[in-house]
Amino acid sequence: MTEKHHCTCCADRARRQTVSIRQNVRIARDTYRLRLVCPEIARQVLPGQFVMVRLPNRTDPLLGRPLAAYDVVSGPDDQPEALDLVYLVVGKMTGLLAAMEPGHALDVWGPLGNGFPPSATEHLLMVAGGIGQTPFLTLAQEYLGLRAFGDPPRQVSRADKVTLCYGARTKEYLAGVDDFRRLGVEVNVATDDGSAGHHGLVTELIEPVVEESPGARIVCCGPEPMMRATAKIARRLELPCQVSLATPMAGGMGICFSCVVKVRDASGNWDYRRTCVEGPVFNAEEVDF
Ligand SMILES: Cc1cc2nc3c(=O)[nH]c(=O)nc-3n(C[C@H](O)[C@H](O)[C@H](O)COP(=O)(O)OP(=O)(O)OC[C@H]3O[C@@H](n4cnc5c(N)ncnc54)[C@H](O)[C@@H]3O)c2cc1C
Repeated sequence: MTEKHHCTCCADRARRQTVSIRQNVRIARDTYRLRLVCPEIARQVLPGQFVMVRLPNRTDPLLGRPLAAYDVVSGPDDQPEALDLVYLVVGKMTGLLAAMEPGHALDVWGPLGNGFPPSATEHLLMVAGGIGQTPFLTLAQEYLGLRAFGDPPRQVSRADKVTLCYGARTKEYLAGVDDFRRLGVEVNVATDDGSAGHHGLVTELIEPVVEESPGARIVCCGPEPMMRATAKIARRLELPCQVSLATPMAGGMGICFSCVVKVRDASGNWDYRRTCVEGPVFNAEEVDF
């Protein structure tokens, strides 16, 4: 079940640029889609990778913030031209980002992180909580055979089915559901207050989906308790599962070790791994939640 993750692409191909904002639009409650003109980064990015974003010419906030690559936008020549990020306003940086307008500049470096491994599966089941849907739009495109990402573009065996189980506090926070449905992803929604879809936890949607098609691979991103619960379900059902961790980090380049996460190997030995360069994607069974 254990899949080895590559580490070669984690920071060595990253570039740092001051880029221009093309769009910054509200798509759900406190949630925005930011389109950045950065063809070099867009061309390289793999599903599950992220970029660091920082406001230029100011020292507060001092550090950049990690945001997952949500989508790659092609220009008129059909070549990658821009990168879409989707962010939830939670604090200082995301609050400032929400006020930025087309034409404003941002410092961006990336692509960073390992991204999801391109393992073949019949059924890709993506489990997202909160703002955890963001690394999955590109992954869905890959597994549906709609698009290849990376430079050179990586090839992934097409899945028969791609499902998104997506949980949010209320229906107002659901962001990008139509983006997934347009691709042909089956979307099952859960909300804490029952305002859309299943009234309850997103993890309660996993088993009914898997019962219908047993050969699934689970990928998961969201709040830690939800990832822990998903990892437990996957272990019980003996399904491969990767989690994309959202550990706060300072630089994204592997230097400061502020984003370490405790992992265990099969013999029970533990160690620390840096989420920025050895993650953010880990085999769920390795993570000591
Ligand atoms: C690899 C990776 C990819 C990410 N992708 C996305 C994405 O696509 N969209 C998105 O909206 N967010 C994403 N995040 C989380 C995002 O980086 C944080 O929400 C952001 O840094 C908050 O910055 P801020 O200055 O607005 O908040 P701050 O002012 O720094 O913090 C505000 C509050 O949020 C808490 N907080 C900050 N960062 C995190 C975190 N990572 N997890 C939990 N709580 C946190 C702080 O403790 C504080 O209470 C990702 C994180 C990682 C590590």
